[in-house]
Amino acid sequence: MDKLSIETKKRNDFVEITEQLSGFIKHSGIEDGILYVYVPHTTCGITINENADPSVEVDILNYLKEVIPENGRYSHREGNSDAHIKSVLVGNSITVFIENGFLMLGTWQGIFLCEFDGPRRREVWLKICKTA
Ligand code: ZN
Repeated sequence: MDKLSIETKKRNDFVEITEQLSGFIKHSGIEDGILYVYVPHTTCGITINENADPSVEVDILNYLKEVIPENGRYSHREGNSDAHIKSVLVGNSITVFIENGFLMLGTWQGIFLCEFDGPRRREVWLKICKTA
């Protein structure tokens, strides 16, 4: 397993990591396979979505904030229940195909670490399964 270390800048933040992941694949020398990307945290997530228009991530974060307010009636005493709930909804892993040494993403897709309780330093765990 390999790890990336990602610094987030705000409490709620999308950090695109597509380039780091492409670099990781290039370094591995693996041409065909499956990339697993996993975040070992309970208050952030990982997702694939549009990376062309930055207003998309703003809309997603604003929507989540509206539906899951920071100061709701929660039991968890740490005071970050909204972040735990957002993390559950977004999920903490993705899988992407690797073909001819490239990440197979759609034209408008990028891979984002989704921070919900930052700013913090986060880990992203990576594993490639070689195929073909
Ligand atoms: Zn907590």
